[in-house]
Amino acid sequence: MGSKESYRETIERILSDGNWHCILGLIKETGLSARNRISEININNEEEFGFIKYEGKKCNLDHTFDNQHKASLYMYRLNPEKYAPLHKDPSELSVEEEQIRQEEMKREDKLKMVNEMLQQKGLNKIELKGTE
Ligand SMILES: [Zn+2]
Repeated sequence: MGSKESYRETIERILSDGNWHCILGLIKETGLSARNRISEININNEEEFGFIKYEGKKCNLDHTFDNQHKASLYMYRLNPEKYAPLHKDPSELSVEEEQIRQEEMKREDKLKMVNEMLQQKGLNKIELKGTE
């Protein structure tokens, strides 16, 4: 570990964005004890504040291009009832913001479709270069 952040700090940093994170990604950063670390944090948090810090459920994230797993693994995120998410809820977006979001989603969908085709043909996927 040395002077770098502890596994626990790494996990807290990764999960601090409020999004779901597959345990696989956490294991990659912290080793196999990621799940134990999360339980540990939850137990500490519950003792101190009366609620768990992270919620977990069966991972249903899209792993089309990396971290594929068939086993039923868990994903985790900050307890949304206790921690305000960094990103706005879609229902709170203005009309313009909503349009931008839709466009972004369409763009990602298209890229995903193309990449799926490429992958089926054994070709390399393409990456978006910047966001213009
Ligand atoms: Zn997963």
